[in-house]
Amino acid sequence: MARYPAGAYTKGIGDPVPRHRRNPRRGYDAEGRETVPATIANSAANGAYAIRAECQCGHEAEVPIGQFPPEMFVPDAGLGMVCSACGRKGPRTVPAWRRVSDRP
Ligand SMILES: [Zn+2]
Repeated sequence: MARYPAGAYTKGIGDPVPRHRRNPRRGYDAEGRETVPATIANSAANGAYAIRAECQCGHEAEVPIGQFPPEMFVPDAGLGMVCSACGRKGPRTVPAWRRVSDRP
């Protein structure tokens, strides 16, 4: 059951993708079409100072946002990373936003 009306979600592109074929690093709209992820440049412009990598083991690390190509999608930033605590590859990656109290 959708929590919001269908029009409230970001519209995806292309054809609907069946659930079993969906990419865990992508979002999908109510009809199952892939939505375009945020890029490094887009996140930096909105105030992200780093990319936070979150491993399944609970280890987290922040990598300065300037170390990634601007056109890279944020969910893809972890593809080349290895967890320094447990050695797992490909942590989940999200933008790390400046604290409200640190904003100019
Ligand atoms: Zn780990």
